[in-house]
Amino acid sequence: MNELTQTSARGLAQMIRDGEVSCEEVTQAHLDRIAEVDGDIHAFLFVDGERALASARRVDAKRAAGEPTHELAGVPVALKDAYVYQGTPTTCGSRMLENWYSPYDAAVVERLQGADMIILGKTNLDEFALGSSTETSAFGPTHNPWDLARVPGGSGGGSAAALAGFEAALAIGSDTGGSIRQPAALTGTVGVKPTYGGVSRWGLVATASSLDQPGPCARNALDAALLHQVMGGYDRRDSTSIKAPMPDVVGAARRQDVSGMKIGIVKQFGGEGFAPGVEQRFHEAIELLAQAGAEIEEVSCPSFDLALAAYYLIMPAEVSSNLARFDGMRYGLQAGDDGTRSADQVMRASRRAGFGDEAKRRIILGTYALSAGYYDAYYGSAQKVRTLIIEDFTKAFASVDVLLSPSTPTTAFKIGERVEDPMAMYKADLCTIPVNLAGNAAASFPAGLSPEDGLPVGVQVMAPALADDRLYQVGAVLEAVLEQRWGGPIWAPLTKEDQR
Ligand code: GLN
Repeated sequence: MNELTQTSARGLAQMIRDGEVSCEEVTQAHLDRIAEVDGDIHAFLFVDGERALASARRVDAKRAAGEPTHELAGVPVALKDAYVYQGTPTTCGSRMLENWYSPYDAAVVERLQGADMIILGKTNLDEFALGSSTETSAFGPTHNPWDLARVPGGSGGGSAAALAGFEAALAIGSDTGGSIRQPAALTGTVGVKPTYGGVSRWGLVATASSLDQPGPCARNALDAALLHQVMGGYDRRDSTSIKAPMPDVVGAARRQDVSGMKIGIVKQFGGEGFAPGVEQRFHEAIELLAQAGAEIEEVSCPSFDLALAAYYLIMPAEVSSNLARFDGMRYGLQAGDDGTRSADQVMRASRRAGFGDEAKRRIILGTYALSAGYYDAYYGSAQKVRTLIIEDFTKAFASVDVLLSPSTPTTAFKIGERVEDPMAMYKADLCTIPVNLAGNAAASFPAGLSPEDGLPVGVQVMAPALADDRLYQVGAVLEAVLEQRWGGPIWAPLTKEDQR
């Protein structure tokens, strides 16, 4: 493997700035890596090498002409296929949108391009971001680079696997209930769900609009912060975009200081259902942060126990409404239109053929939860639980600066192991869901490998809304002390041969 693909995003940008390597060479190295391993990993649904190289040559020309370039100029990035990017297909992992090309760019894409970054292609995801393993993708699952027989998490498994497989230096995800953080945990990478409204959703295919949030994925805390800074900030085209200054995420990642910081350990997340190896690494992380000067205390958030149940009413309710636009009439798949069928028949045939089982399950669940006779009992009750969860966070943050939990109850599970059991699949997001319901910020950082199975474990940091900088403060310290402990980053440079 070319060592450029193992270099940090910040390091690559520095090398390009210093003229040690051209952006074209960096891009080519990543395209070569994709050609080498993506047949096995399947992180990408679409790669446009020519377009990436053309963008790279433009960055090289800009630099040669002495024009100013952005701090991450020339860094190759992988884009979750839930974002529209003009000139490329946007499938959202669904047959419904197969071969659909977007006529415009997402806000996030505009930001990446404005920062002279190189978009390599679109990454795999669960269909319409519904899932925790990428197995509901209509185009086949992504394999975890740590063990190809296991899932990389989901829905953003493609973006996380692209990082863990050294196919991209940075990646973009979207997080509705954990789709950035859970794959990060399962692949030993960093994934951040910014404060709701912190990054524009313009051009992100809507899953559950009150929960969806775009965010950065990386292999280390500082790289994630640099990408967060590029992506974040007000956008008038997203009605929930926050008009407030961006928290200084990069400064926080560089500061590497948690002395005097109050860290609350969420009492509800641990014990039954949590793998001993996950708990062991989580408790070690707490100890290391205490040694680094943080004050640790246990915090109770009793309503978190109800979060999963509330999420699986609110989330499908919004999904049923958002996916109603895929009706076989306006765009996307149209099935069964032989000129004799009614519009209703064509809609039914298109939706039957276009959606996979999980999308159908959510649409049915959501439609039921919103139906006249059951609205108060289901959707209404779930919204009340949502308020209780917000209150739990408010109370907790009155006494601590951040909350900590394992990111996921277990490490990466085997492909096929949970597909027949939706409840087992949904439980993968047990720890990540409360934050989406409350709208505050959270991230998953690597905590080392589980002594049980040698697979990555993630620790989740949760911060109040608009205090995203605290995530990086904790993450960067944890990363530094763990690197000291293990004598290097926790991600082992994996090659194809290592997997055999
Ligand atoms: N796994 C969760 C779900 O299926 C989260 C999905 C997401 O964040 N997009 O709902």
